[in-house]
Amino acid sequence: MIELSINTASRNQMVNITLEVSKNIPGTFAGLVNIYVPHTTAAVTINEGADPAVRNDILKYLAELVPESESFTHVEGNSDSHIKSSLIGNSVSVIVENGKLILGTWQAIYFCEFDGPRSRKVYLKLIKNV
Ligand code: ZN
Repeated sequence: MIELSINTASRNQMVNITLEVSKNIPGTFAGLVNIYVPHTTAAVTINEGADPAVRNDILKYLAELVPESESFTHVEGNSDSHIKSSLIGNSVSVIVENGKLILGTWQAIYFCEFDGPRSRKVYLKLIKNV
């Protein structure tokens, strides 16, 4: 297992981690990389990597869908963060051929912070072709 460290800068943020994931895959590897976020108030997703307006719109929509001020019962006061984490999900898998991530032209892998700023971890597990 490979561990990545990510420092986020705001409460809600999408960080493009495509390059960091890519750098940790050996040049001849073929199989899958599972990208796993071991946190309850963060997530990982694959989406548009070219236009930053897309990730801003995703964060704006999530904030409208799950308002921070809702009358939740969780005493930490970050239930919106937990809900956003579950909506987006904690892992994605990407096909790897010859050490290269097989992503669409416009796709990027995003670490999604919903309760930052914090120091976070992302786990990578390479699963070889059998
Ligand atoms: Zn909490």
